[in-house]
Amino acid sequence: MKFQPPASHFIDGAHVEDARGATIDVIYPATGETIARLHSATPAIIEKALASSKTAQKSWAAMSGAERGRVLRRAADIMRERNRELSVIETHDTGKPIQETTIADAASGADAFEYFGGIAASLTGQHIPLAGGDFAYTIREPLGVCVGIGAWNYPTQIACWKGAPALASGNTMVFKPSETTPLSALKVAEILIEAGAPKGAYNVVQGYGDVGAALVADPRVAKVSLTGSLSTGRRVYAAAADGMKHVTMELGGKSPLIVFDDADLENAVSGAILGNFYSSGQVCSNGTRVFVQNGIKAAFLKRLAERLSRVKVGDPMDPEVSFGPVVSARQMEIVQGFVAKGLAEGARLIHGGVRLDRPGYYLQPTVFAEVTDEMTIAREEIFGPVMSVLDFATEEEVMARANATEFGLAAGVFTRDLIRAHRVAAGFEAGTCYVNTYNVAPVEAPFGGSKMSGIGRENSTLALDHYTQMKTVYVSMTGARAPY
Ligand code: NDP
Repeated sequence: MKFQPPASHFIDGAHVEDARGATIDVIYPATGETIARLHSATPAIIEKALASSKTAQKSWAAMSGAERGRVLRRAADIMRERNRELSVIETHDTGKPIQETTIADAASGADAFEYFGGIAASLTGQHIPLAGGDFAYTIREPLGVCVGIGAWNYPTQIACWKGAPALASGNTMVFKPSETTPLSALKVAEILIEAGAPKGAYNVVQGYGDVGAALVADPRVAKVSLTGSLSTGRRVYAAAADGMKHVTMELGGKSPLIVFDDADLENAVSGAILGNFYSSGQVCSNGTRVFVQNGIKAAFLKRLAERLSRVKVGDPMDPEVSFGPVVSARQMEIVQGFVAKGLAEGARLIHGGVRLDRPGYYLQPTVFAEVTDEMTIAREEIFGPVMSVLDFATEEEVMARANATEFGLAAGVFTRDLIRAHRVAAGFEAGTCYVNTYNVAPVEAPFGGSKMSGIGRENSTLALDHYTQMKTVYVSMTGARAPY
């Protein structure tokens, strides 16, 4: 098989197999062909991974921040050197066009290793002067063994976004990719070893949800970072609460993207395209509720249709192709179900809507207009290439409707009015907001959701707060004063 790794798991610096685990077939979404066959982790594999991470954590944390940083920066360099190889794997794992994966996936993972590698040597506590010459100081400590659990849309990026801040601050990580896209995390683990990380610093185990659940429940685990759906997030958060574990939850969304009459039309259409069809629409922060003000609606829909006629759908390995399949047959069926609901509930289909007559899981970029707030497609996360265009008249009205969702991952506004742009951004109930752009996530800035879209932040220095805890040491220069 074309992309068969040496073994299913990577533990303690080596590829490890246990063929008694349930079979995981890795399917190339563009053809439906099986490109690798792996096995879900057995209890023995889970035990091996956790024991290895537990042992490695002490020595990894005992290294200086500068030494840890050097390893991570070396890993970043290796990822960049191997960008092509890693992008080809990512494209086969996910079906995303090579045009995207060569710039967005391993590259973003390398950015995370470089950024957190650069910061590792600067992680310090504080000195706090107190009365009478007494003082306190704080020590920023790693949490211990962290578990990372990934979704299938950005498998390389997720493996690195969780691994880099965890490792920079002296934790070790057991990472479980989604069983739909298990290949790239193995490469990340190999690269970290090659870069000089000690065995066990970053282990990868494959598996279905039950493997994730077993990892979360283990008392050796101090923190869980999940990227996944709200329903999984609820389960994982509850399981982590039982052991009073730290959590980061990067969950789903139903984000609004507001286009005011005075917006730069071409830019607003670009934002809507990026925020709905990049990665075949399988992006958590997508602005899938596109609110377009009445005065610009006709021009917006016309230009959107023209731009969509230029999309190149096809073999994701063709560098000219800008739109690939969705990740799996199951995801395709889910998205088709939403399209059917959109039609049944009276939305007007103005583009796409059908499966392409070719092997693989290809849907067309799909746009519904005249969508209303109560329709299923305007309320539920679709996680596929379906844009809903909703009409609005006033800022006050659109803000209330934009925020009327349980989710709060992202939100965007397109306008030339600077004052309004910042007023709207301030009014959004969302963790990640965009003005005149959409869906950028550079490592320097915090990324994450509010409301039901999650807690905690990835990227930026804030991520380090979620992988460390503060110990306070009080020191008296005069001794303890007991009353008796
Ligand atoms: P799922 O929630 O189905 O799965 C996420 C991960 O959790 C998978 O690895 C899954 O394993 C695992 N898992 C499932 N059940 C449990 C459990 N009880 N305990 C521990 N782990 C478990 O999400 P998808 O993979 O389908 O990804 C799509 C979702 O992810 C969307 O809702 C999307 O919005 C969200 N997402 C959020 C992002 C963000 O940054 N906010 C970014 C990308 C996606 P398995 O797959 O084997 O069941």
